[in-house]
Formats: sequence, structure tokens, C-alpha cells
Amino acid sequence: MASSLTLVDETTRTMVCPRCEERQPMRDYVTLGMSPRYAPQLSPIYRCRKCHHLFAIREQ
Ligand SMILES: [Zn+2]
Repeated sequence: MASSLTLVDETTRTMVCPRCEERQPMRDYVTLGMSPRYAPQLSPIYRCRKCHHLFAIREQ
């Protein structure tokens, strides 16, 4: 897989927004609230601060 298509880079702790395709630090994304009780069964939803796109990373 081409590295440019990888959304999450665990080494640099950065993530590419799938809409504006800007690579940003993971901490710069807004994570929407989720119930702590069910958090292990939920996928976090991120919001890009630049284009306000909402997305969730599919578990591999
Ligand atoms: Zn974006």
C-alpha cells in the first residue's frame, strides 16, 4: 500500500484527513464524545479542525 494512502501514522502520531488530505497531529483532531461504558465497542469519530469533516477510521 502506498504510504500516501495510509491515514494513520503511528510513528509520527499524525493522521490524514480523508477530505482535505492535510496530515495533522492526532491530538489536533476533535474526538466526539462517547459513552465510557461502551467505549471499547465504539469507534471514535474525529472532526478535522481545518475543513470540519467528520470521519471514523475503520478497524483493520
Ligand atoms: Zn480536513
